[in-house]
Amino acid sequence: MIDPRETRPGTRVIHAGQRPEPTTGAVMPPIFLSSTYAQDSPGVHKGFEYTRSHNPTRYALERLVALLEGSTIPEEADPSRGGFAFSSGMAAIATVLDLLDHGARVVTGDDLYGGSHRLLRRVRERSQGLRITAVDMTDEQRFEDAMTADTALVWLETPTNPLLKVFDLEAIVRIARAKNPGVIVGCDNTFATPINQRPLEHGCDLVMHSATKYLNGHSDCVAGLLVARTQELAERIRFVQNSAGPVCSPFDSYMVLRGVKTLDVRMQRHNESAMRIAKWLESRKDVDRVVYPGLPSHPRHEVARRQMSGFGGMITIFLGGGLEHSRTMLERVRIFALAESLGGVESLIEHPAIMTHASVPPAQRAELGIADNLVRLSVGIEDPEDLIADLEQALA
Ligand SMILES: *Cc1c(COP(=O)(O)O)cnc(C)c1O
Repeated sequence: MIDPRETRPGTRVIHAGQRPEPTTGAVMPPIFLSSTYAQDSPGVHKGFEYTRSHNPTRYALERLVALLEGSTIPEEADPSRGGFAFSSGMAAIATVLDLLDHGARVVTGDDLYGGSHRLLRRVRERSQGLRITAVDMTDEQRFEDAMTADTALVWLETPTNPLLKVFDLEAIVRIARAKNPGVIVGCDNTFATPINQRPLEHGCDLVMHSATKYLNGHSDCVAGLLVARTQELAERIRFVQNSAGPVCSPFDSYMVLRGVKTLDVRMQRHNESAMRIAKWLESRKDVDRVVYPGLPSHPRHEVARRQMSGFGGMITIFLGGGLEHSRTMLERVRIFALAESLGGVESLIEHPAIMTHASVPPAQRAELGIADNLVRLSVGIEDPEDLIADLEQALA
């Protein structure tokens, strides 16, 4: 079998981390539902004891995603090559926080997924005493000022949700390490996917995905993923994951494995269609502003071009007119579904202030710029002409 590291992403998504099942030759990894595994003699087994700790279907997904993110950990050193699958994206982030001691200092981006914000501020600040500072990391000086020698974790998303801010990963890693060489820098790569951006290659220690979104891609499963850059970090994650138990089920592992097979072709289409729609929206007088990292008008377009090989399917627009106008537009779309979530084959549209980011306090929403005329699009893989026609009739 070819070493997956010799192949390009379009081949990796189909073959990496997988091999035909030895007893039958099945090309897709079977869904191993067994919770426990027979041993030959006490403590003598084939590497599998209990499914919370080890599961062949989950391992196949974990290896695949680790290899897509550019893991260099060999399978002999770690059975899942530093990849870990969880019951949800939030379970993956909770596991990262469980790597930290009580009272640890954390620096995050200021524009985080609403659920990440809630977990940090409303759960872990209380239960774990985390000391959290949120900064706009597009201002590297402000990040440097916030970063301290005792900061244990830097957590960011890029592009961010929903403002699509782009942070320079290499600059963040450099500044963070200069203050604390032992800091963990983790990147939520859900919006970009490993097809468009691979944070480990820019020096990050950890990559996280809500596999619920692009990786699974079909809006029919909830799952999360982590990939660690070093074996030492992978061992710490494995210990915490096995201790708390928020693992991805064998069935959901299979669902994501199946979805990832088409990730490369889906992302090509998401990238192309979103670029086309973003340009079209930018030409319209009834749209005040279009935010898309692929547009030259994006304030960090140059960083995005350096760091990403495609710009993804997410577009944020500021409509002319207020809340009522936005509401009318959202009620009139016929192909775009009015729904939370993103990254599926079908196009979705949503209103962050009322929907996904309702858990962010209004004052902070205002400070961040999550205004009442802000609408977020997740461009699916339908025919882009139909999507443009749908937006046109809804705006009219
Ligand atoms: C959806 C999402 C999450 C949370 O993932 P779940 O699978 O819903 O738990 C985290 N980060 C980002 C950027 C997301 O879009």
